[in-house]
Amino acid sequence: MAHPVTGSTTAPVAVPAIEVRELCKTYGSNDVLKGIDFHVDQGEVVCVIGPSGSGKSTLLRCVNRLEEPTSGVIMVEGIDITDSETDLDAIRTRIGIVFQQFNLFPHLTVLQNLTLAQRRAKKRGKREAAEIARRNLEKVGLAEKADAFPAQLSGGQQQRVAIARALSMDPDMMLFDEPTSALDPELVGDVLGVMKQLASEGMTMMVVTHEMGFAREVGDRVVFMDGGVVVEQGVPEDVLGDPQHERTQSFLSKVL
Ligand code: ADP
Ligand code: MG
Repeated sequence: MAHPVTGSTTAPVAVPAIEVRELCKTYGSNDVLKGIDFHVDQGEVVCVIGPSGSGKSTLLRCVNRLEEPTSGVIMVEGIDITDSETDLDAIRTRIGIVFQQFNLFPHLTVLQNLTLAQRRAKKRGKREAAEIARRNLEKVGLAEKADAFPAQLSGGQQQRVAIARALSMDPDMMLFDEPTSALDPELVGDVLGVMKQLASEGMTMMVVTHEMGFAREVGDRVVFMDGGVVVEQGVPEDVLGDPQHERTQSFLSKVL
């Protein structure tokens, strides 16, 4: 159908969820990010892989300004978050983040962990926040754990609670930084299963991970970083199955 105003018959081009241009980050004399170009389209799942110390977490943390970029541009849904005029709090509510450590409040129940930020940042009432929390607990398969304390849960369950907590803020996108790296191997599958389900529902996701099976199966694109640069990126079959760069080949030979 033609656009009523412009008459255009082509679909509007959505802005990328995340767009990073020439991002540099320096700690003292340590150049951690050396001109990163990176993007995640809306609805896309991008897996970021690479050796320890290559700058993956720093890149992820720059995306919601947990780290201050040294130079470069970071756009979130078309808004320049490096602009000092930008309302960072408003941007941050659109971005859910899940870390390796679950960071749940130990003295609060699961339900309270899920309602706290909703009530503070989203100004939701007690009943509405609890309703949304229970819906998201159900989604991650933990409806029956609402009244448990974090210490009563396994690591995998705690991480699923952390995902449900992030989802309860209605984010437009989710960033994961090695969400399964702290888990016992037998608990990894449930967390990856929740993430896979999220992806299938169309969630925009940036996933830093060492889980190559997940990257291959769920990722729309895989980005390989090494030494603060993006060495290679593309569809999983290419980057994981037929890497072009020696550094990618060397990394994959160690982890696959
Ligand atoms: P990755 O997540 O790929 O393992 P990081 O982004 O955590 O890599 O770290 C990249 C480099 O930046 C490492 O050399 C690390 O020591 C350094 N680094 C990370 N955070 C800080 C910090 N807050 N202060 C100083 N150096 C840091
Ligand atoms: Mg890291």
